[in-house]
Amino acid sequence: MALFEKAPAKINLSLDVLSKRDDGYHNVEMIMTTIDLADRIKMYSIESDRIEIYLESRFVPSDERNLAYKAADAFKKKYGIKKGVHIHIEKSIPVSAGLGGGSTDAAAVLRGLNRLWSLNIPLEDLAALGATIGSDVPFCVYGNTAIAKGRGEIIEKLASPPSCWVVLAKPDIGVSTWTIFQRINIDKLSHPNNDALIDALHHKNFFKMCANVGNVLEDITLTIYPEVQRIKDKMAEAGATGVLMSGSGPTVYSLIEQQSKAQRIYNGMRGFCEEVYLVRILG
Ligand code: ATP
Repeated sequence: MALFEKAPAKINLSLDVLSKRDDGYHNVEMIMTTIDLADRIKMYSIESDRIEIYLESRFVPSDERNLAYKAADAFKKKYGIKKGVHIHIEKSIPVSAGLGGGSTDAAAVLRGLNRLWSLNIPLEDLAALGATIGSDVPFCVYGNTAIAKGRGEIIEKLASPPSCWVVLAKPDIGVSTWTIFQRINIDKLSHPNNDALIDALHHKNFFKMCANVGNVLEDITLTIYPEVQRIKDKMAEAGATGVLMSGSGPTVYSLIEQQSKAQRIYNGMRGFCEEVYLVRILG
């Protein structure tokens, strides 16, 4: 029987880089929350010991390079599963957008296979397996709102943000996370105040949350892609609050309390920018 799993996108309320590690990765502190823009994943068992991926996308491979494939492969190996699986991915999350599209698909496959093969593996173990696939996968295994530390594998749950709307605007470019991380100059970063942001979440203080969103990668991406700055300016002109680039970009979001204002900003951004979404935080 087929099983469905939702794979929601994430936004970074904060992204801080603390240091470069000897293994080449960076120590980060990222506060992330899931939003109701999601890929939909259908899975069913097949008799042959294969992993089949089906998706319609010009930008995403459907072979072993797909993060959903890597997740299924890692899962089968770790738990000694001899059956195969067919995975159908209906993509709604834009690719290379800073919204964790590949990571959330991988996480959804881990959760889905756990259910499909009735293994009852705890989420912590799935998250640990997810860390071998990508730095954002452990967060995506849990979803909701959390801070990710280390290289992303240490997850601490946080209070969900106050209820609000999110306008997302993505220009017609894809950004390579690797390229942006290569350009980090650790000594020149101005770090976001994560403690203040966590306090804002805890007290459901919308204005304090907006005042403390921050992303150290933003300046790097803005320098390479001026269109991201133009989107930020356009949103600010429209009176948007809590405006920030998510992940390594290029998607820029705004957090808005009132639905009518969110709708107005959404309308204003359409036509100005390739892809625009109006969604809610799942938190
Ligand atoms: P992050 O915010 O975690 O850095 P992103 O949103 O910027 O990620 P993705 O959409 O995850 O980026 O895509 C990054 C790369 O991963 C692309 O080159 C894409 O082809 C590849 N990829 C592999 N599997 C998937 C998948 N299932 N969905 C999307 N991209 C995938």
